[in-house]
Amino acid sequence: MQVLKFGGTSVANAENINKVAAIVKKAVSKNKTVVVVSALGGVTDMLLQAANNAARGSEDYKQAITEIEKRHFDAVKSLIPVAHQSQLLSLVKTSINEIEDICNGIFLLSEITPRTKDRLASYGEWLSSQIIAEKLRFDQVDVQWKDARQLITTNSNYTQAQVNFEATQANIVDYFNSLQQSLCIVPGFIASNADGITTTIGRGGSDYTAAIIAAALNAEILEIWTDVSGMMTADPRLAANAKVIEKISYGEAMELSHFGAKVIYPPTLQPVMTRNIPVWIKNTFAPEDAGTLVLNNERSAAQSDGNIIRGISSINSLALLSLEGSGMIGIPGFSKRLFEALSNEQINVILITQSSSEHSICVAIDAGKADAAKQAIDEAFANELALQKVEPLKVETDLSIVALVGEQMRSHPGVSGKMFSALGRNGINVRAIAQGSSEKNISAVISTIDVRKAINVLHEDFFETTFKQVHLFIAGVGNVGSKLLQQIEKQLVSLQQHLKIKINVIGISNSRTMVLNEKGIALDNWEGELKQGEKASLPLFVEHVINKNLRNSVFVDITANPDVAAIYDRLLQKSISVVACNKIAASSDYANYKRLKDLAREFNCKFLFETNVGAGLPVIGTLNDLVYSGDEVLKLEAVLSGTLNFVFNNYDGSRPFSDVVRQAQEEGYTEPDPRLDLSGTDVMRKILILAREAGHEMQMEDIGNNGFLPQECMEGDVEAFYACMHRHEAHFKQLLDKADAQNCKLKFVATFNEGKASVGLQHIAPENDLYHLYGKDNVVLFYTLRYPSQPLVVKGAGAGADVTASGVFADIVRAASI
Ligand code: ADP
Ligand code: ASP
Ligand code: MG
Repeated sequence: MQVLKFGGTSVANAENINKVAAIVKKAVSKNKTVVVVSALGGVTDMLLQAANNAARGSEDYKQAITEIEKRHFDAVKSLIPVAHQSQLLSLVKTSINEIEDICNGIFLLSEITPRTKDRLASYGEWLSSQIIAEKLRFDQVDVQWKDARQLITTNSNYTQAQVNFEATQANIVDYFNSLQQSLCIVPGFIASNADGITTTIGRGGSDYTAAIIAAALNAEILEIWTDVSGMMTADPRLAANAKVIEKISYGEAMELSHFGAKVIYPPTLQPVMTRNIPVWIKNTFAPEDAGTLVLNNERSAAQSDGNIIRGISSINSLALLSLEGSGMIGIPGFSKRLFEALSNEQINVILITQSSSEHSICVAIDAGKADAAKQAIDEAFANELALQKVEPLKVETDLSIVALVGEQMRSHPGVSGKMFSALGRNGINVRAIAQGSSEKNISAVISTIDVRKAINVLHEDFFETTFKQVHLFIAGVGNVGSKLLQQIEKQLVSLQQHLKIKINVIGISNSRTMVLNEKGIALDNWEGELKQGEKASLPLFVEHVINKNLRNSVFVDITANPDVAAIYDRLLQKSISVVACNKIAASSDYANYKRLKDLAREFNCKFLFETNVGAGLPVIGTLNDLVYSGDEVLKLEAVLSGTLNFVFNNYDGSRPFSDVVRQAQEEGYTEPDPRLDLSGTDVMRKILILAREAGHEMQMEDIGNNGFLPQECMEGDVEAFYACMHRHEAHFKQLLDKADAQNCKLKFVATFNEGKASVGLQHIAPENDLYHLYGKDNVVLFYTLRYPSQPLVVKGAGAGADVTASGVFADIVRAASI
């Protein structure tokens, strides 16, 4: 004997029912079979929705009934030859009329009882099972239909009726002993009480019907045919990387289903486990897939795949109740009274934690019952409340549980540590924790808005064969941004292979438009997507970055915009790492710079800005490494402006100074406003950032600037600036001639020495380390305790879109690797 159960999606329409029929025929050819079916997918919801609409006086229920009728008529017409349809069609029509009569009654009375709900909902399974039985009959299968209400006996707890196993067992054994046919079709979900009134055994309960029958008949196997290829490591709707679990123990499968894995209705496994009947979860739409086998501990543990964690699941719509007070310490019976108050109201407790000080006790329940629970508990503790021995019950809602499940957990330390650090790294606040004494499960209560993120973060951390998905938001896609996207596209596969990082660009904005796509923007067509995007708005873009609440989010600022720099603190407080090419934040007021660094530390994310100094050169990284390893910076000497170096290397008096500056701008070496470079402000920012990273509390005003630009050139717009430089050509020529006369080169040098920093134009003689510096190169000489006389030198291209983009990219990878 074998029992096969087909869920709602599997029997949703004629096309799917044909697939079911094929699977059933194959099964029957091998063994005597019971088939339990759900209602056509969505029909139970529609029936209950119709009832609710009718009860609140809305005539929408009529529309729903028409739809239900059509779904069933369509199925019959496609499955049964025309000449034989009439009997089944009239059976459907009679049921539809009854449904309509019941709903009309509810509408007139404006009232709906749980008993009526069960009656109404029962039509779903009743109809689907009749249609499927008839279809098989026409396919020449020797089939018998049997009403589950005559097999499964329950109490009268409508909508969640409890099974009377003794009576049920007897009914089932009696009936099947005398059954001649090799196939019996039974509607799932429905049952009846001792008076023969229809009950149901809980939403999703067809699985349970099948398990009850399988246990009663001591079947060889129970097959649950559904729309996924087995029980998976996480809900596939929440975690795209979820994988099918090949084998799982009853205990683990039960724990996963109790904690939200909808693929099996929680009570299902109990009856089959007692009889050691294997459960095989299979996919109706991919019958060749191996599926998941649920077995007893020894058999499944022996086949263990080496993962400590078997799966991750979640339950939404919870409320957390906290009872606190000094009056609870050391007095027995407090928790008993709390649980009694809840159980008197039929409120199920999903999770319990009590602090070891006994000062507080915390329970999670279904949020829908929170008001009733508060009332019941405050009443139960009215005396203690009046004496201020306990505080009024605290109720928090919009909460969920995420649970890690695995038998192996008990013999492996560190699972909870890993779990909470993964959550913490992503800014997910844990409100309560529980670990079952069986150590098969660790549960954490978190905000519902964080569930998707939490499941994915945990999945990435515990199923290491998968990769870590990094979500990128980029503000500013000019020269550097475009190059960055090009580089990312080229490296995608390699990063995934070598670092197990998968970069997904979710948002891009320039000053005109922005595009957000949670599935990831196509990197070979980002320009097209951006053009089609909505009008750019920084506040909206930031809201999206925060509200999408995606794990491993990194925000990349490739603008020179102070408004963008001003949002870093909000992002960091949400544990979103910031990679800034923009120098404004790191060179802003010291208190702000310090605060951003502290926030990154506090919220477990990164604030990185390597490209603020020397573009792609490893300047800040080198400095950090020196300082972290205990070295001390004594002096820095540096040429930090690619623009100024380019300009002075190319200005030989043969063409005007302003032309050389314009060339630098055209080749992309300057800031958008080249005066920031020419005035030395940009270099001041850079040496300021280096001094700060070396551990000095310094401000922009503390830096001396021995500039070379005539003051009047700083006024007006960029074009006016070029015109002004042109007028002052003689001034620039004179600077050059003076240097030439001493056989020196002009270099704009930044120095940090004995805690003081300055920038300015200097004559550099041929023997100086800074003399041989060509093109747009930068150089930094680090004089430190470990490099006192021969400095550590970092030298190379200090400007240009490609190298800057690669520096930003390296920061992204660093941020992604925490
Ligand atoms: P049926 O109608 O066949 O009973 P259900 O919708 O009740 O199917 O259950 C199957 C669904 O359960 C899947 O489509 C999937 O979205 C969801 N699900 C949630 N958690 C898991 C999990 N851990 N493994 C597999 N499926 C899961
Ligand atoms: N049709 C019922 C429901 O949707 C039972 C089931 O499908 O298992 O809840
Ligand atoms: Mg189900």
